[in-house]
Amino acid sequence: MPPYAPTPESNKYKKQQEKLMRPRVINGKPTFIKFLPQDDLVALHPVYLTDPNDFTPRRQRNGDMLEWGIIERDEAVELNMMQTIELRRQQDSRMAKCMYHGSLVPEVQFINALMERKKAKIAAARDPQREASDYVLTVRLRNRLSDTERASCTSAVMWRRIKVSGATKLSVFQDKILAPALGWTRNYHGYLFVDDSDGTQYGADGGSHIDLMHLKDNGRTYLDDHEFTLAEILPQPDTNKPGFHYIYDLGDYWLHDIYVESILPVSESDGKVVLLAGGGACPREDGQGCHNWIKYIASLTPAKHAEIARSMNYCDDPEVRRLGSQWRFDPHTFDLAAARTRIATALASPASVPSGPKKTSIGMTNPFTHPGGDSAPKGTHRTVIPSGIGFNPFGKNSALHGAFQTEVVRDRRDTRASALCAHCGKPIAKPKMCSACRKVYYCDQDCQKTHWKEHKRQCVG
Ligand SMILES: [Zn+2]
Ligand SMILES: [Zn+2]
Repeated sequence: MPPYAPTPESNKYKKQQEKLMRPRVINGKPTFIKFLPQDDLVALHPVYLTDPNDFTPRRQRNGDMLEWGIIERDEAVELNMMQTIELRRQQDSRMAKCMYHGSLVPEVQFINALMERKKAKIAAARDPQREASDYVLTVRLRNRLSDTERASCTSAVMWRRIKVSGATKLSVFQDKILAPALGWTRNYHGYLFVDDSDGTQYGADGGSHIDLMHLKDNGRTYLDDHEFTLAEILPQPDTNKPGFHYIYDLGDYWLHDIYVESILPVSESDGKVVLLAGGGACPREDGQGCHNWIKYIASLTPAKHAEIARSMNYCDDPEVRRLGSQWRFDPHTFDLAAARTRIATALASPASVPSGPKKTSIGMTNPFTHPGGDSAPKGTHRTVIPSGIGFNPFGKNSALHGAFQTEVVRDRRDTRASALCAHCGKPIAKPKMCSACRKVYYCDQDCQKTHWKEHKRQCVG
């Protein structure tokens, strides 16, 4: 996972470095983490000199459990800007001096050990009954304004209530259910799920979303969310306390709380995805995080309505297209039918390829004949979304007009492990696929029949 994606060169380098690395002896006890001899340990938090197997995660001052529960800085000490820059300089200098590669960075070695510990814990607690149960979840965007500011705009903060099978992979839940339910764009930004009990982070393995550059300030690394089902990682129901968090866009940092409302008995669980209810409109993509967003929507001008209408997650909205310049953004409205349609569309399409997210490209070459130099993994191809369709960040009159968007999309059907019924969203135990195109799965014949009037337009059989 970036920025630690292994390459053949780096693996060779990594092996050379590994040979050099040794534990340090501190107070007569060797450290768990190995260091290069030239590492002076400047600006390394003492927690990394301890044994990760004895580590107890800690909550931040505001009560949040994030970033593996590692609090690297004493929150009571307010650093001024110069001190922050100096601390960062020391950390970067240590990294550069030792030229640690990837997972050999002491901090990541420590978190890797926490990951192994967590994986063992999840494996020991695995319960097949849970996978056969449906979960009712409420997801709520965190309003991070002060109490006085909050009073006027609480209802503007969005929430959604979703029923989903416990057997759904976390990665698929994010891609085909959660993002469309909320109104975020699929495969555009990076994201993290965080377990509120211990700060464990999950994210997209191999994701190359640009905002993942902020990962080093957001817990540094994560477990592959494709390895776990919701049933394996979600806690017991608690309607008062969020058991999980969803951070969308590591730059803008939209923090959502996930509450497990209930776990239905197996006899009452049909596995189908249902968006039960919701409120509040999704902020626009690249809207600079909740704090700025709440201020932004406090007074909406025609220019702001137009800016939201042009954004990635609103430009293709049917209402925005229908009303054109007459369209007005209302932060308090939620269109349940439109959100259900977004989920249905996502369920009927292949899973996103996190290594080839949607991105804007600017170039002199004709995007239709030379769709970018990036190679696409086997079984995928890079698409070009022509300007005029979809999002163009550089308006018509900009000198940069002509920018185009690309994304890597899957040619093949999803893997069986991640397959959901293209109609109802139920995870598939016995795969039954469309025999004409062999690209979509159905849980039974009823779902396939009902879905045909939608699917026949895409089916290439
Ligand atoms: Zn179905
Ligand atoms: Zn088909």
